Amino acid sequence: MIDLHTHTVHSDGTTTPTENAALAAAAGLAGIALTDHDTTDGWDEMAAACQRHGLAFVPGLELSTERGEDSVHLLGYWVDPDHTGLAAECDRLRNERTRRAQEICDRLAALGVELSWGRVTALAGAAPIGRPHIAAAMVERGVVPDITAAFDGYLADGGPAWVAKHALDPVDGVALIRDAGGAAVLAHPGGPEGAVTLDIVSELVTAGLHGIEADHPGHDVAAAGFWRAWARERGLPTTGASDFHGTNKDVHIGMRHTPRAVVDALHEATVVPAGKEGVPW
Ligand code: AMP
Ligand code: ZN
Ligand code: FE
Ligand code: FE
Repeated sequence: MIDLHTHTVHSDGTTTPTENAALAAAAGLAGIALTDHDTTDGWDEMAAACQRHGLAFVPGLELSTERGEDSVHLLGYWVDPDHTGLAAECDRLRNERTRRAQEICDRLAALGVELSWGRVTALAGAAPIGRPHIAAAMVERGVVPDITAAFDGYLADGGPAWVAKHALDPVDGVALIRDAGGAAVLAHPGGPEGAVTLDIVSELVTAGLHGIEADHPGHDVAAAGFWRAWARERGLPTTGASDFHGTNKDVHIGMRHTPRAVVDALHEATVVPAGKEGVPW
């Protein structure tokens, strides 16, 4: 079994790629994916750590897209990290995330929550800034008891300090992942970040979506069953994954997983970039 969705300090997780690989090995998994938000920065370290543990490494990223007020997360596996269009979009999103985080901090200040911008950027380190970094700064300041309370009271989609990030339309996101040679899987369509409508998912299938993440900690049994059946009717595979974020989320590696055969089928749909036949992914 393989956990197909985990984060590290390269985005808004709190563990390193090396630690994720060790946790996957301890959980008895056969492999693990690295899917940080809008970056492939952790791939080299993760590939080396997986090799040491005898784990299959599935390289990926979680691309931010949006349709109107709805944010849609796309998992792109085995993309070419040097694909010009994808790298440019990741760069653009990094800048966009910084701008948005500043605006969120301004909104928090107007609500009486003064955070140090230096502390927020220090918590993000070299990673694209995400709401969990701001939530962690709020917990440190004693504004809220934990990250969940920061989202519930302030940062959740539509919340008093929430600010949208400008991103590609999800149909264009699927096309970009495909153009970069990767397999595109819709992340947590019915998760805490807002349900993705069936109309949008149908459009993504038409655009060449490769799979749907049905088994996610944010899905209850009914939601997971719904997406499995919906995908099966359309001949699409479904995946399972923890969406691990270290201490920023109450889930653990291996809590949801995907059978090896499904991962192999996704891999077969991808294209090895010219000149990269020897790379460890
Ligand atoms: P961002 O990329 O800045 O929009 O933040 C998205 C991340 O925030 C997700 O990957 C989750 O890790 C986290 N998140 C979103 N909603 C919640 C929530 N209600 N509670 C805790 N974490 C959340
Ligand atoms: Zn995240
Ligand atoms: Fe997500
Ligand atoms: Fe995620």
